[in-house]
Amino acid sequence: MDIPTNHNPQENQAAESEVAQLEHQLTQSGFFTHTKLSQFAERINENEAFLFGLIDYLIDKTQISQEELQGYIAKVKEETHQKQEGLHPGIALRIDQTSKEKEAFTPVNCEERLPVCKAICCKLNFALSANEVESGKIKWELGKPYLIRHQQNGYCAHMDGEKKCCSIYEDRPKVCRGYSCANDQRIWKDFDKMVLNEEWIKENLTEKKMRLFAASMRPNDPELKQ
Ligand code: SF4
Ligand code: SF4
Repeated sequence: MDIPTNHNPQENQAAESEVAQLEHQLTQSGFFTHTKLSQFAERINENEAFLFGLIDYLIDKTQISQEELQGYIAKVKEETHQKQEGLHPGIALRIDQTSKEKEAFTPVNCEERLPVCKAICCKLNFALSANEVESGKIKWELGKPYLIRHQQNGYCAHMDGEKKCCSIYEDRPKVCRGYSCANDQRIWKDFDKMVLNEEWIKENLTEKKMRLFAASMRPNDPELKQ
């Protein structure tokens, strides 16, 4: 099939600027949705804890002080947390370790290993930090905020397929700066002999489609039958 090419540089520039504006809009809408979701989830968790604490109080006592009531609420919050029953908007932001907690970095001979590993580390998933998201220089998955964005082929969106290198090397996330596969058993079955952990890679680094959650479907809505 012949794909028509537009040779007018001004029209190309205008189209590119429209795409950039659209991407900006999408990013802003993502920020809005995730912020609101986080706020709502926080409020709901707070209300649930308050309600269950109040019920416990009504069952156990006829009179209670403010401190005692707070104790009930804190107890229910803790139980909800332990049972992992709290609402969570599914948003991930990375909080970096303090320098004291940092593990020693083992340098890796990437150039020698690239023909075998094919830069598989650039298919790994990780959450960005708030600073990295706000910098606007690193792309994140609109469907899985704020994980690093991937291409259809599984590689990070910043992997330059032609040059086989990181297109944002100077601005790459802290995770990439500090990553060493030397002790990563997800990548290597035998690091010294350069034997990849094919099973883990196949199981975990292949594309998984996101499923929609039909939270408010109305089966009898005539519009759904059109
Ligand atoms: S860090 Fe490891 S997996 Fe990544 S490119 Fe270097 S050798 Fe390959
Ligand atoms: S930002 Fe660069 S170094 Fe980090 S995963 Fe993406 S391509 Fe690899």
